[in-house]
Amino acid sequence: MRPALVFHPDYRLAVAGPPHFLSSRSALLLDELERRGLVDPGRLHRPLPASGRWLALAHASDYVTTVLEGRLDGAGRRRLGLVFGQALLRRSLAAVGGTVLAGQLALEEGLACNLAGGGHHAGVAAPAGFCLFNDVAVAVRVLRAQGLVSRVLVIDLDVHQGDGTAAILACDSGVFCLSVHCRTNYPLRKARGSLDLALEAESDDGLYLAALERLLPGLLARLRPELAFYNAGVDPHREDRLGRLALSDGGIAARDALVLELCRRRGVPVATVTGGGYGPPEAVVARHRLLFEAAAALSSW
Ligand SMILES: [Zn+2]
Repeated sequence: MRPALVFHPDYRLAVAGPPHFLSSRSALLLDELERRGLVDPGRLHRPLPASGRWLALAHASDYVTTVLEGRLDGAGRRRLGLVFGQALLRRSLAAVGGTVLAGQLALEEGLACNLAGGGHHAGVAAPAGFCLFNDVAVAVRVLRAQGLVSRVLVIDLDVHQGDGTAAILACDSGVFCLSVHCRTNYPLRKARGSLDLALEAESDDGLYLAALERLLPGLLARLRPELAFYNAGVDPHREDRLGRLALSDGGIAARDALVLELCRRRGVPVATVTGGGYGPPEAVVARHRLLFEAAAALSSW
């Protein structure tokens, strides 16, 4: 099947950052999916940028006001690690709106993919690690406020711990944050999520997939989530510049297929976000494409 895709023209806005930060990733990914026939033109959705009211459901209201007024201070800019300005702000608001929309579409159709998002380091009142706002945390709170879901599972398989998501959502009953990450990677100080699996550096396909197979079926059965947000970051790849794990292309493909298939079998709708991936643009985009090929291999949801 071809899932509903979420893309906003502001995802194309160039944002300056360190050399390994791939500003054009969302745009390149959409082009690549179109080239490969993985986009159903009738099911490409444009989100509304997130409002201040939505953001304040997950972030401190003075932080939201400060950022929306363009007044992020020096410490905040350093934690962010990207050049803060109108382009980044517009892109971030579109990405948060995109993850909210992906969640809503997933509830209607079973599977929906935002071609941005995964800002999992942004905390309650501060940016961090290229993340200005925490789109998944905002989306969880918006969908719950709209009465659309109560039990939500966050499956964060980006190689870095979803520390901001855990910090924001830790106290929400009915929300479960799973993070599988590299123990010796950023962030130095890990937050406490609902379930954190910290893998040693150089963990390979076999170890990674076995861990996932051990954890995920039981969680889905026990929690019976009404929706899962899947951070499908491709930075666990062995050639990722910031990764430190050792997954192959086949390992990433098997991981994505496993998550989608286990959720589909349990009848759990899934909204995906891109998460991290660092390296040469073509290689990174090819790794992100694996998720959409895994989706295409499903006959239905
Ligand atoms: Zn990452």
